[in-house]
Amino acid sequence: MTKEQFEKWVGSLLEKEQAEAKGFFTVIRRKPGSSDQFIAVPYSQEYKDDLTRAAALLREAAGATGNESLRKFLNTRADAFLSNDYYESDMAWMDLNSPVDLTIGPYETYNDEIFGYKAAFEAYVNLRDEEESNKFAVLARHLQEIEDNLPIDAQYRNPKLGAAAPTVIVDQIFSSGDGAHGIATAAYNLPNDERVVNQKGSKRIMLRNIQEAKFRNVLLPIARRMLTRDAMVDVNFESFFTHIVAHELMHGLGPHQIKVDGRDTTPRQELKELYSAIEEAKADITGLFALQYMMEHAKSLNLTKVLPSDDAAQRQLYTTYLASMFRSLRFGLNDAHGKGMAIQFNFLIDHRAIIQNSDGTYQLDGAKFTQGVRDLDHDLLTIEAQGDYGAAKKLQNELGVIRPSLQKSFDRLKDIPTDIEPVPVTADELAPKH
Ligand SMILES: [Zn+2]
Repeated sequence: MTKEQFEKWVGSLLEKEQAEAKGFFTVIRRKPGSSDQFIAVPYSQEYKDDLTRAAALLREAAGATGNESLRKFLNTRADAFLSNDYYESDMAWMDLNSPVDLTIGPYETYNDEIFGYKAAFEAYVNLRDEEESNKFAVLARHLQEIEDNLPIDAQYRNPKLGAAAPTVIVDQIFSSGDGAHGIATAAYNLPNDERVVNQKGSKRIMLRNIQEAKFRNVLLPIARRMLTRDAMVDVNFESFFTHIVAHELMHGLGPHQIKVDGRDTTPRQELKELYSAIEEAKADITGLFALQYMMEHAKSLNLTKVLPSDDAAQRQLYTTYLASMFRSLRFGLNDAHGKGMAIQFNFLIDHRAIIQNSDGTYQLDGAKFTQGVRDLDHDLLTIEAQGDYGAAKKLQNELGVIRPSLQKSFDRLKDIPTDIEPVPVTADELAPKH
């Protein structure tokens, strides 16, 4: 089937049938004997045998738990597998409050390379880390204060932020399907059903042990070759993970509804294909700004229990960040995170906040780094606030590049893997032996 054939067929359908054809949970099949007619087959029918078996197992699991919210999710999801209606179980997933944190079903649409309509099945079985989750819930309570102090013209600040999606920190025990192929997923934000998001918001799951495995197996080996020996002392997982969570939270801050020439619009609409890299760079840099702000005000904000706030902590945050920059830069410039990181790296190099030594290693200048973060954050936020496509283009052309000296540094990293492939040993041990 070509794109054009699909679109022509969809155009001939009634509105309700169109929604099914484009929906998450149907497979498109050619109508027998026809060359240009198709049918939308519900997943519940297409995958009936597998889903019937899976539903029975979910019900069995529901019978084995004493946790009310988990039982409800398991039972409603079992129903959804057979009815193809995921709404009620998505609502139950938002209410899930259980030490065993489970995600199972058809979710992400990245594998549909034609239109991005069709969801792929995946499963994650996680253990919730209550203490870590609470720690970040405390930080999330100060988002409005961060917004009120963003390094940007006051008129562009949002006086009333919407509620942030709750962040749940977990360790992954097992994953499968779409959750276990390609780049190892380290965080996900669900559900995708707008009806559920409008009523209950969404939830962000951060897979801490996956992040830690990436840190130990990829980031540390890179850091050992790219940083000075002295700097290595300051690279730690705590700083790395705290910044990743901050990055996610910062997507919610800064300009979202803007006015350009009197029109109501959004940074995404105005910056078009340049938006993703600018937004990723903004989330990174605003994350550094926010953590630095909270460290500086840890006493008055009553954060000393959840955030280290001495001079060493700030140095560790920056140095760990510098090390993680090389990891993200290796994703390449076609990746929004890679391009966004190139902008940051070159900006900080040009402002002498990052310095390359004669032996090829890098180090940072603490005071210049603090100022550089502020200045770059100002530029990125202002581009978004003004929806300034020209300024975004200029920034990406000048800084969103890999310069020869950095390319030379990458040549020293060729034997270090770009990602990990987790093997779920605990799940293997717990599973019945055959
Ligand atoms: Zn991001």
